[in-house]
Amino acid sequence: MSFYVFNSLGKEKEEFIPVRENYVGLYTCGPTVYNYAHIGNLRTYIFEDILKKSFEYINYEVNHVMNITDVGHLQSDADTGEDKMELGAKRENKTVWEIAKYYEDAFFDDCNKLNIERPAVVCRATEHIKEMIELVQLLEKKGYTYISNGNVYFEIDKFKDYNKLANLSMEELEAGSRVEVDENKKNPLDFVLWFTNSKFKNQIMQWDSPWGRGFPGWHLECSAMSIKYLGERIDIHCGGIDHIPVHHTNEIAQSEAALGHKWVNYWMHGEFLVVDGGKMSKSSGDFLTLARLIEEGFKPLEYRFFCLQSRYRKQLMFSFDALRDAGVALKKLKSKIASIKESADGSETINANKIEAYRQKFAEQLSDDLNTPNAFTVLSDVMKDDELNSKEKIFLIEDFDNVFSLDLLKEEVAEMPVVDEKLINDLIAERNEARNKKDWAKADEIRNRLSEMNIELVDTKESVTWKIK
Ligand code: AMP
Ligand code: ZN
Repeated sequence: MSFYVFNSLGKEKEEFIPVRENYVGLYTCGPTVYNYAHIGNLRTYIFEDILKKSFEYINYEVNHVMNITDVGHLQSDADTGEDKMELGAKRENKTVWEIAKYYEDAFFDDCNKLNIERPAVVCRATEHIKEMIELVQLLEKKGYTYISNGNVYFEIDKFKDYNKLANLSMEELEAGSRVEVDENKKNPLDFVLWFTNSKFKNQIMQWDSPWGRGFPGWHLECSAMSIKYLGERIDIHCGGIDHIPVHHTNEIAQSEAALGHKWVNYWMHGEFLVVDGGKMSKSSGDFLTLARLIEEGFKPLEYRFFCLQSRYRKQLMFSFDALRDAGVALKKLKSKIASIKESADGSETINANKIEAYRQKFAEQLSDDLNTPNAFTVLSDVMKDDELNSKEKIFLIEDFDNVFSLDLLKEEVAEMPVVDEKLINDLIAERNEARNKKDWAKADEIRNRLSEMNIELVDTKESVTWKIK
């Protein structure tokens, strides 16, 4: 079956032709681990997860590689501002290494909750400094670099196709780098390959290099690690659309300059999740996390379902109301599925032709540049089809859920409220002390606080115990 993808390179829907038969080398830009991922970031990772699972659905082997940015990413993608990891460390009074570990774990925890499968290879920038240095050396040998104020820069005027991905006017391309110009650059669009410590004197993450102690520029890691794990010709590279004009444009320039040939065949970019017309940004600190959605009473998979209701190349407007509607729709869907499951009686047999026809329809929608809304229409056609018996329906639902990953056949388990026993016992001890001192106001205040936590106190003659209301 042909698979069509919208290629940002050329801006057209194209038939996917793999480098190697039945195999997809897939690279997706991963998180910068200095803060929690916001739900906008997570939308992009959900799109990439569906992309991988759609290829697997039609029997491709997918080798999925994702980086973890734990060094080198400055506030602006164009080499200015402070180092993001250092900012995180200062904010939380921790070391950069602790910050990286904490937020990487938090990221994968979110992914687990959203049924986003872990990529086959997860590679950290700090563990690939050697590969990055070698890439800079190669670029230096080929004459694409210059040194200014101790830092090594890529000279974009030496690379003739610099603008081929973004296809913007020079003015538009320069807009991002004009905010704060790095005076060391020959062209404001040149970018750093290696910062020596002339950039940040007290940088903790530093390594020796032929140009002096320092650290790599952000774009370098994706080129070095993708080539290491996927080879010199890569099928698909993904990220959010914000990466087109700077990060991915620079990745292409340095990779193709080093390799001397085309590097990635298909570039796929997810549109943004927006709130009230604005973009959600990690650096502003004002963003919604998955944990916040859970606090508000939503289930992670309701957010996944919400994302899959629209196409990845369309901007998606987030609101709690819209998420609530998606949650209700998912519950309805699951309850209909549960009743189909109940009605299945063991004697039914499966008609392979009918199954295959529906599998084909489902695959056609996914292969149409991931038309997930239409894939849900195929699911609902299956559920309504009187010519399918319950067993066949359940088979297909389970099969489609290999891609949707919404736990469609899993029963809802009533959640037990989480109680912090130590806190409750401490509060009770504090209340006993207040009562001994005849401080009735404080004792009542503590009882009310426990009541808000759904805890009811049971006063007996001998002691005070508690129960969940
Ligand atoms: P970062 O951790 O900031 O490097 O971003 C991780 C991924 O999320 C990248 O692929 C970004 O392009 C993407 N991204 C950033 N903001 C949004 C947003 N509001 N909606 C969707 N994707 C986003
Ligand atoms: Zn990248």
